[in-house]
Amino acid sequence: MSNSGKLEVLIPRSLCEIENAEDLKIDNESFASVFVAWEKGFVSELKPINIENKKPKKILFPRFVETHSHIDKSFTAGEFPNCKSNYEEALSLNLEEHKTRSTRKVIERAEKSLILALKNGYRAIRSHVDTYETQNNNIWDELFKLQKKYSSKLKLQYVALAPLEFWDTHHGEKLAKTFSKENGILGGVLVPPFRNKAKIKNLISKMLLLADKYKLEIDLHIDESTVKPGAGIKVLLETIDRLNIKVPITCSHLSNILSLNDHEILNLGSKIAENDIKVIALPLTNFWLLNHKDKSTSLNRPVAPIKQLQKSLVDVSIGSDNVQDPWYPFGNYDPFYLISLSMPLLQLNPWERLTLSSILLSPSRLLNLNWDGLLKKGCPFDFVLLDAEKWADIFSSNLKREVFVNGELYI
Ligand SMILES: [Zn+2]
Repeated sequence: MSNSGKLEVLIPRSLCEIENAEDLKIDNESFASVFVAWEKGFVSELKPINIENKKPKKILFPRFVETHSHIDKSFTAGEFPNCKSNYEEALSLNLEEHKTRSTRKVIERAEKSLILALKNGYRAIRSHVDTYETQNNNIWDELFKLQKKYSSKLKLQYVALAPLEFWDTHHGEKLAKTFSKENGILGGVLVPPFRNKAKIKNLISKMLLLADKYKLEIDLHIDESTVKPGAGIKVLLETIDRLNIKVPITCSHLSNILSLNDHEILNLGSKIAENDIKVIALPLTNFWLLNHKDKSTSLNRPVAPIKQLQKSLVDVSIGSDNVQDPWYPFGNYDPFYLISLSMPLLQLNPWERLTLSSILLSPSRLLNLNWDGLLKKGCPFDFVLLDAEKWADIFSSNLKREVFVNGELYI
């Protein structure tokens, strides 16, 4: 199959680095008309099209990056349905699922997730994997094999999502050592209310020191709650301050800080930015699960305050989180499902640079990918081509797409 080609397309202006930019024709939704050619999988030519009445009828996006998923438990909603749709029930069903969990089941779910993600237009995924002491020992060997199997088309990054106590055991130390060779990330949950704050601080310290010892990153489910706004992030910041160490940290969720006032959010945002902590907003699971009530409708659904955090110069990404499991019963590893819902939920304008940055550029930075996702000469032709001429076409139900991987039409 050919890995060369050429196209006339529209692309969001902020996703394109081009010579002669002053000649670009940009429409009122910030789409620029460009001619792009690629050879042997890489962009060889890129120039503005500026001809009256000749607007391309296709839109180009770089393949997407999923910053937060759970491929080990996807598609378990049928067997473990969460009919109450709340956090407590989700957790209890998740623990039930662990009892029947086997390496084979996890790999099957994970592979199904990757196949869908590739077909729908993802090029990289960070996935949390439930991790506990009684777990089957060979699970990580099989997960690393799966990672290698897909590595030419999709970069897969693992976070071991464990109770904080796990990182203070010899199992935790052993896994951290393995991860230092396999580029894994240490994960955990830091969700208030905390019954014993001193104990939590001690466990966080140990986890940070372990990450520092093996030069690893940390990704925490933090403040995914409706109570004690910011209690988790404050504990984390205090601990980092006291230890005075520099470990790369991602805060996933950070939802309940939304109920602080704007001044407090901006203050907290500055501290988060100062410590180079990255944030992932996860609107779908948050809007579905938090404050879900049986008999009344509430609009009180905490989610990371993305605009205030960006204003404080925090690098914020948007992720999907769960797919068809007890935590969130819908979704299909489709980036367009995620953005179609996130824009109205978070009141983000798709034609704005910061919005597109949170969907495409921040995620590429978060996963430390070789390519930032901008269309430019020399970049890989790893793109999704849509039958669309405007944002309304993208957010419609019958979107037609073609996915190019290394310059070749994948599907
Ligand atoms: Zn999650």
